[in-house]
Amino acid sequence: MSGFKKYYQKTWNERLQVLEEKHLLNVNEITYLRELVSANSLGDTVIENFITEYSLPEGLGLNYLIDGQEYVIPMVTEEPSVVAASCHGAKIIKAAGGFKTKLVERLMIGQVLLENVVEAEKLIAKLEDYTAQMLKVANDAHPSILKRGGGARWIRLRILDHDLISVDLAVDVKQAMGANMLNTMLEAVANFIQRKFNQDILMSILSNYATSCLATAQCEIPVDKLAKGNISGLQVAKKIAQASRVAQLDVYRAATHNKGIMNGVDAVVLASGNDWRAIEAGIHAYAARDGQYRGLSNWKVEADKLIGEMTLPLPLGFVGGSIGIVPLVKINHKLLQINNAEHLERIVVCVGLAQNLAALNALVTEGIQKGHMHLQMKSLAVTVGAKLTEINMLVNLLEKDKVRDSANAKKLLEQLRKKEN
Ligand code: NDP
Repeated sequence: MSGFKKYYQKTWNERLQVLEEKHLLNVNEITYLRELVSANSLGDTVIENFITEYSLPEGLGLNYLIDGQEYVIPMVTEEPSVVAASCHGAKIIKAAGGFKTKLVERLMIGQVLLENVVEAEKLIAKLEDYTAQMLKVANDAHPSILKRGGGARWIRLRILDHDLISVDLAVDVKQAMGANMLNTMLEAVANFIQRKFNQDILMSILSNYATSCLATAQCEIPVDKLAKGNISGLQVAKKIAQASRVAQLDVYRAATHNKGIMNGVDAVVLASGNDWRAIEAGIHAYAARDGQYRGLSNWKVEADKLIGEMTLPLPLGFVGGSIGIVPLVKINHKLLQINNAEHLERIVVCVGLAQNLAALNALVTEGIQKGHMHLQMKSLAVTVGAKLTEINMLVNLLEKDKVRDSANAKKLLEQLRKKEN
């Protein structure tokens, strides 16, 4: 047997040693990587070529009143101000009676893509006759989901081009995100089509465009609750509605509008152990569902109320993936006081809407920087090397100073240290 091991075959210690041998990192840096790894680390079992753990802060979104129930919401993010904004948006909405939510079914869709199709319409007609059989093939490939009350629900056939067909399979995946069960079912359906019709298959994979797993949040805020300084509540409400209109019309604004929404959505998706790339991909596709990328939320003024509404595709899991593996996810489920995926969907869409309200409210009144500055200054202080005991003092100095860049922060930190000595 050859003594040569590929990087992924090496032990964790050996992998770290390679980094030192190749002079990529020095001994101190390797020690630091080691120290970041907890005793019961899952790294090696979860990903490949594992070297260390990269942790992110978790904070609590407060003031959430959703369908009459109060929540504290764990949020994982590296961005200053996101949690504060979330609490602020939720507080405004809570004072107005809270969020109302609704869900439209909970099915995941996957695709079997057929290529080199000759006479697409004729093949579609033949496939239609086998819909029931294909649903059975799908269910037979993952029978345990039937016992849980789920399973394959429908098949849709779409001609993508003269030689390409998509066979879309919708599955009730119950409490999982369902990627793996769906992929197993799709491969079984693909084999069936290949054998039955001698048809070339390009690929079989779930779609992250989860149009049959939609969650909606809605709120109605009396405009007088939005008054700020000299600006009346009605003026603020009209500006928020105008900002929402701009995000419908202009893709430059829509992308940023939606980024703000995703600040909240991603933070809860991460805290709940879900695949945030999957959720991101689906939500952005949904934002472009009519051909133009648009803002995900809608705000309008009716009589004396600002009415906000947002629908997102949220195929979140309550089991599966890393959910059962990462201990913190269990604790976060407990904090959320939820016991199913539907509940999580309702919460996540509300966090997105609260985050959006907080951002728009700041943008159309005092601007985003005022609220951000304190936390940004904290990050700047850490970046230039301030110790825990120095951070607040340096932030105070920076806030008094007009120049708030890293050069000035370094200079102020040096002055602070000289003064302290
Ligand atoms: P798992 O593969 O862990 O599957 C979840 C499993 O949990 C089910 O198959 C089922 O297995 C079991 N289960 C137990 N209780 C329930 C219940 N009440 N309802 C439903 N299932 C239950 O995870 P997923 O299939 O959900 O996949 C999620 C992972 O897939 C994520 O980590 C994601 O990153 C990854 N992924 C994502 C892709 C994408 O987004 N494009 C593509 C591929 C993977 P059983 O019936 O056998 O007990």
